Amino acid sequence: MLERKVRVRFAPSPTGALHIGGVRTALYNYLFARQHGGDLIFRIEDTDSNRFVPGAEEYILESFAWLGIKFDEGVGFGGDFGPYRQSERREIYKKHVDDLLQKGKAYIAFDTPEELEAKRVEIANFQYDASTRLGMRNSLTLSADEVKSLIDEGTKYVVRFKIEPNEDIHICDLIRGDVMINSSVLDDKVLYKSADELPTYHLANVVDDHLMQVSHVIRGEEWLPSAPLHVLLYRAFGWEETMPAFAHLPLLLKPEGNGKLSKRDGDRLGFPVFPLQWKDPKSGEISSGYRESGYLPEAVINFLALLGWNPGNDQELMSLDELVHLFDLSRCNKSGAKFDYKKAIWFNHQYIQQKDDNDIATLFLPVLKNHGVEAPFDRVLTVVNMMKQRVNFVPELWDACSFFFVAPTEYDEKTVKKRWKEDSPKCMAELADVLADIDDFSIEGQEKIVMNWIEEKGYHTGNIMNAFRLTLVGEGKGPHMFDISWFLGKEETLLRIKRAIEILK
Ligand code: GLU
Repeated sequence: MLERKVRVRFAPSPTGALHIGGVRTALYNYLFARQHGGDLIFRIEDTDSNRFVPGAEEYILESFAWLGIKFDEGVGFGGDFGPYRQSERREIYKKHVDDLLQKGKAYIAFDTPEELEAKRVEIANFQYDASTRLGMRNSLTLSADEVKSLIDEGTKYVVRFKIEPNEDIHICDLIRGDVMINSSVLDDKVLYKSADELPTYHLANVVDDHLMQVSHVIRGEEWLPSAPLHVLLYRAFGWEETMPAFAHLPLLLKPEGNGKLSKRDGDRLGFPVFPLQWKDPKSGEISSGYRESGYLPEAVINFLALLGWNPGNDQELMSLDELVHLFDLSRCNKSGAKFDYKKAIWFNHQYIQQKDDNDIATLFLPVLKNHGVEAPFDRVLTVVNMMKQRVNFVPELWDACSFFFVAPTEYDEKTVKKRWKEDSPKCMAELADVLADIDDFSIEGQEKIVMNWIEEKGYHTGNIMNAFRLTLVGEGKGPHMFDISWFLGKEETLLRIKRAIEILK
């Protein structure tokens, strides 16, 4: 067989926010496409009009733009195989449904919901298939004239796939190996509904994969049960030669490992399950997103890449470009991947340290602004440089270092009790005088003179420094003391010391 060009697709249904598992699926498709010099297609599967949610498509596109996952063609990207939105491909599907009908691979069924319900009551474990279809109202049991007149009268119908019983269907899955099921367990799936003149997921999915020349279908494990049906559809159309290879990715499991990861796990344990914040247009409910929670896209990508795959050694930090080289579908796990969100936090910490201070400062600016602080960029940069080792998230920088930008107005009670001694007001007043006389207010300049003064006076270094810290910070935290006073400058340092003496006495 000829080597085919690698063409893969990410094909979400716009039914709401994109779940983080969907992001992982898209990422694996992206890595696979890039490493094979192939194409990644973005297709919107919106044939189920009942589940359509406005804004979902835009949300998905924005998520990938943020994450840096780029598509080569599809909705919003153009390409030669469009349209890429399934609701715009009605005629194509209709033509293919007619083709199956003509070949006798599908049939028209008129059974009403009531009739189907009656059958379910009559026959235990009723399934519309080879064993029951001849007892139903369809084009296999009605005459051609009857069928025609029913359609002409406008009777609603569906088109069902005629599945031959008792045939072993093999799916060659690149992750799972040979997966076999017997066709008798399948029902005659609905492929098309006259009510909205739209195909169902199965038909549209297979027709599009074929027409868009998809070479590999890489998707979540939840689609594995659909795969045998898709294989049969490829055959029914006579497309076996170009049937894509399948790879069904492992499920994402709860952090504890028991059962599928759900949005409720995120709510319960406090982590997002969506890439971006999402506001449900119906309920108005807001769900948190990785972006708004302060995650860097690089960290999210790295974390997701390792949920179900590993490079075969213990390397953990990998950029998107490195992942393109290292990724290997055959190294994906079959068993589910525990969603260890604490690891996501760890990754974020690592990427904050790796990232250029300029970038972190740029991300920190809006956080400062939210707190009413507008500081010159180089000041922000200095603080970022001093403090970023201490945080996991950019917004956490505010708690770690707000005192650089805003003078304390209150003093932490516990710290005061512990650190503000009887002689502290006197010592701090003396310290203020010493500092006032220093010309070289650099970190080293201050340190030398202040340490000399402490020694001369025979003071306890710890006591002086702790009280000094309290006056500038308002509590017991922060970096090296003279880093703080240097950053604040002489004037502000003296002001803060005086104010603390006044308030604390
Ligand atoms: N529309 C399906 C989804 O929402 C696509 C599944 C597939 O990739 O075949 O995930």
